[in-house]
Amino acid sequence: MSCHRVRLSRSLRLLATCLIILGLAGGCTRGGSGSGSTAPGSALNVVAAENFYGDIGKQLGGPAVRVTSIITDPNADPHEYESSSDNAKAIAAARLVIVNGAGYDTFMDKLLAASPSRDRKVITAATILGKREGDNPHIWYDVSGMQQVADQITQALQTLDPAGRDAYAMRNQRFKSSLQPLLDRMIAIKAKYEGTHLTQTEPVFGYMGDALGLTIDDGDFQHASEEGTDPSPQAVAAINQEIRSHTVKALLYNSQTTGPVTTKVKDLAKQAGVPVVGVSETEPANQTYQSWMLSQLSTLQAALGG
Ligand SMILES: [Zn+2]
Repeated sequence: MSCHRVRLSRSLRLLATCLIILGLAGGCTRGGSGSGSTAPGSALNVVAAENFYGDIGKQLGGPAVRVTSIITDPNADPHEYESSSDNAKAIAAARLVIVNGAGYDTFMDKLLAASPSRDRKVITAATILGKREGDNPHIWYDVSGMQQVADQITQALQTLDPAGRDAYAMRNQRFKSSLQPLLDRMIAIKAKYEGTHLTQTEPVFGYMGDALGLTIDDGDFQHASEEGTDPSPQAVAAINQEIRSHTVKALLYNSQTTGPVTTKVKDLAKQAGVPVVGVSETEPANQTYQSWMLSQLSTLQAALGG
């Protein structure tokens, strides 16, 4: 019995030594990243497929992370994005990768597969929210969903950089509090405009529309513009008729997925005096996720009558 105990304690000591060595090795491969106040040279590399995830990742990671966002151009159609060799390099160096999923950024699957790493965490926002290909992929318009995504990002950062655990928890709290003005505005709009009928050129605003209790057209016309194909003449006639008859109170216009057909619809709305509300799917420069969403809500609110 005592002999057994000795053997056990010896193996425990051995295990402890192993763990210390492993810990040190882990520390080395992490480049010494620590505590949420790391110098930029040793920061943890985060790659986000879209810049609003990059922004949220930066808000949650602070100085301990170095964020690279891939889709950043608010004037280009993200559905048509093709990756570059720079993107591949960024992925290869990343410890944490944030993708949207639901078929929105399939180029990321290829980049990740081309650069296998056991040492990297991948967060797929759509998976967290139970969305898959075929569902509306614009899930960042689901503000409460983004809080769940933020929690997963925080957990991943805490695992990758345990020394920064408290700092990441604090940043997570700060992020959530910062969403309050946005959530308050949503409540105010819903209280006044629930049930209001709108149309749109592409279903980018869908989850926000649901949260606001708006009824927004989401049919052939919208799916055709999302996929970059031509909607049927019937679908075009239907949206035109809704605008001419003022059946819809506003047109949500995605300036990133335009073509002659959506431009015509926008022109018709202007002519008919139906307010056109611009919505985008890439965060504009010099904005935060919060300010971007809030400014779009302000424009919508003004268009509906304040
Ligand atoms: Zn889209």
